[in-house]
Amino acid sequence: MADYPDNEPILSYAPGSVERVELQEEMDRQMCEVVEIPCIINGVEIFTGNTMPQVIPHKHGHVLANVHLAGPEEMEAACDTAVNAQKDWIAIGLEARCAIFERAADLLATTWRAKANASTMLNQSKTAFQAEIDAVCELVDFWRFNAYYARQFHDEFQPLHSPEGVINSTEIRPLEGFVLAITPFNFTSISGNLPSAPALVGCTAVWKPSRNSIFSNYVIMKLMMEAGLPPGVINFVPGSGEAITSIALENPHFAGVHFTGSTNTFNGLWERIASALGNLASYPRIVGETGGKDFVVAHPNCDHRALVIALLRGAFEFQGQKCSAASRAYIPRSVWESIKDELVEEVGRITMGDARDFTNFMTAVIDQRSFDKITGYIQRAQTDPGCNIVCGGSSDDSEGWFIDPTIIVCDDPEYESMIEEIFGPVLSIYIYEDDEFLDVLSMCDTASPYALTGSIFANDEEDIQTAFNALRFTAGNFYINDKPTGAVVAQQPFGGARASGTNDKAGGPLNLLRWISPRSVKRTLSPPHEWGYPFLQPDE
Ligand code: NAD
Repeated sequence: MADYPDNEPILSYAPGSVERVELQEEMDRQMCEVVEIPCIINGVEIFTGNTMPQVIPHKHGHVLANVHLAGPEEMEAACDTAVNAQKDWIAIGLEARCAIFERAADLLATTWRAKANASTMLNQSKTAFQAEIDAVCELVDFWRFNAYYARQFHDEFQPLHSPEGVINSTEIRPLEGFVLAITPFNFTSISGNLPSAPALVGCTAVWKPSRNSIFSNYVIMKLMMEAGLPPGVINFVPGSGEAITSIALENPHFAGVHFTGSTNTFNGLWERIASALGNLASYPRIVGETGGKDFVVAHPNCDHRALVIALLRGAFEFQGQKCSAASRAYIPRSVWESIKDELVEEVGRITMGDARDFTNFMTAVIDQRSFDKITGYIQRAQTDPGCNIVCGGSSDDSEGWFIDPTIIVCDDPEYESMIEEIFGPVLSIYIYEDDEFLDVLSMCDTASPYALTGSIFANDEEDIQTAFNALRFTAGNFYINDKPTGAVVAQQPFGGARASGTNDKAGGPLNLLRWISPRSVKRTLSPPHEWGYPFLQPDE
């Protein structure tokens, strides 16, 4: 038997299953109350009275919770608390820290499963399946595999050699100070992982969740506390990203930022950190996974049905709000002629509505701002003579922020919807002539600044290799005959380069290494008692 953990199995939620009933009951329960969500600093809940509601995106009149936002005082206290908690957190040792997060994983896989899934379905409008692969399976995997990797490199990174009379060793120290975790709305698992990965190796953290996922993120914070997370190790401060960054950077013990979100936000953060360097005790680690403009390139000899399925699932699951969502495709004319009707028909069969109704494949986008941004792209395409909307194009924000799955065929491969991140259910397609495969690979490589995920669909090995080489730097996660979404922890560690981030591969050991600062130790068994060297002796 392998000594590493298994990936958490995905439950089916099929009709009649125990998990389906439990999840529906839990959603009903969560919808019957309005939770008051505090800041949590040093394990203490703080209700500031300055509140903001959390609503259900597919039913935005329904308030799930009131969030008590952190002000400057709470933010400063969170940073100071994190600094003060580090000594004891280091002292309990790696094994005890691993045990806490492994316990958290066990709770999430069992008694907390329905709670985490229901809160994610309601807060971020995910279907049962999309919530299950995120809020439960991926986060359980992050915690279990991170513990496995951390134990491994404590052994692996010892010095190769200790000569006679000397014992060399390496202490896997954490960074000195606290890590600011700034998390995105779209994955509950990422939100849980960003503060906990640095914490596992001995850092402490200040966690600023996204304004659109505080309800589900609070469930994860409470779960970690139930698993035995000591007070002060992770401090939960919902509030302004701008303000928390300023306050964190005034603290000399700011040791790094663990960020996932949009490229613009990350660029701004990096600049702020750079200009605060003079105030900091150490060079901070800056880890950020950011936006994407993820592609599918089809070769004339590809499997047509597989391509249709990959485009549909890749572009429209979770309303296209995955950083890895297929949002541009390059399809040869012959293939397009063959799949067009089938693709439009299949997309037309997609059901959309309340996440509580399990027959829906899609639900709403996250908020009004997002709805306006996405519909803006659709409206501009509707009036552009170079664009042809072959399906979708409608939207309705009266009850929830619903946007139909939309496909735009673009004459110009550099049209805005072909190269910019839209982050919604919009797939743009460029149709190329069958003999222009090589040109289209180079177009795909250079058209967009992002380089997160991408797929090649082809049946001939030589064509696959051509694409593999031509698109080497176009994606940090590359798929062959598969959709560009759905990376699994410990199988396809996730991250991209160029404008898509620092590529520190969440879900793999490389990410954990960013949070350590090793100490090399040489112990001499018989220290010299004379200071002179032999060369100092005169010639005879
Ligand atoms: P966002 O950039 O709007 O927000 C991310 C976080 O940054 C939030 O907590 C937000 O409050 C905070 N923030 C916003 N402005 C800030 C500022 N000036 N200073 C400090 N913090 C600030 O992103 P989002 O809408 O929550 O998430 C969607 C984005 O995340 C997309 O671009 C998507 O591609 C990206 N994403 C990337 C990955 C990846 O692994 N590459 C994974 C998930 C999401």
